Amino acid sequence: MIIDTSKTIAYKCSSCGAFQFINISLFEMSSKKESSFTCRCNGSSLVIAREGLNDYRIVIPCIGCGTDHIYLFGRKELVSGEIHVLNCPKTGMQQCFIGNDEDVREKLDSLEKEFDELIDTLGYDNYFVNTQVMFDSLNIIHDIAEKGNLFCECGNNDIELLLLSDKIYLRCKKCPACKIIYASTNEHLKNNLQTKHILLVDDGQSLDIKTNESIVKKRDGK
Ligand SMILES: [Zn+2]
Ligand SMILES: [Zn+2]
Ligand SMILES: [Zn+2]
Repeated sequence: MIIDTSKTIAYKCSSCGAFQFINISLFEMSSKKESSFTCRCNGSSLVIAREGLNDYRIVIPCIGCGTDHIYLFGRKELVSGEIHVLNCPKTGMQQCFIGNDEDVREKLDSLEKEFDELIDTLGYDNYFVNTQVMFDSLNIIHDIAEKGNLFCECGNNDIELLLLSDKIYLRCKKCPACKIIYASTNEHLKNNLQTKHILLVDDGQSLDIKTNESIVKKRDGK
């Protein structure tokens, strides 16, 4: 019988927002007091430290709330075939997956698939100032809407969503109210993650955006 003791960790870098893969064997984890893994952007690191004989402490800087989160694992938990999904306790954002390589990649693939579908819908991937932040922000708005927390001051909840390169423009289909959600920097993403309700108000600043200009549909034939 062969027991695979290596684990794959995928964590969302707090600096660039991309998932970074780490492959580590339990043997490696127990032989070192502390291992640190830095994202290829050099902006953040995940640290795994041994705690006593059988426990591990994983410290991950969080893109969602800006603090470090500490997760404790027993060796048994890590060896088990389960996949562990670590969520930011403040914003609920999925920030890390730990498990067998196949399972972790599958999780990430399904996240990426959604991402690719968005890119496909829009035609090309350099439309947005920051595609990752735009994608995450769209998901946040989607979650807020699903919980029934996206509505207009007029009582309507039939909201139109337009994507611009650096922001998401929400407008009421029944009145002039609107709301702009910025989505081009990690700072914006942090703000959006903290948003629980979106209320559209008519402050007389409604942008004159034509749908066909903001949602670009173009393929460059490749
Ligand atoms: Zn990074
Ligand atoms: Zn957090
Ligand atoms: Zn309205």
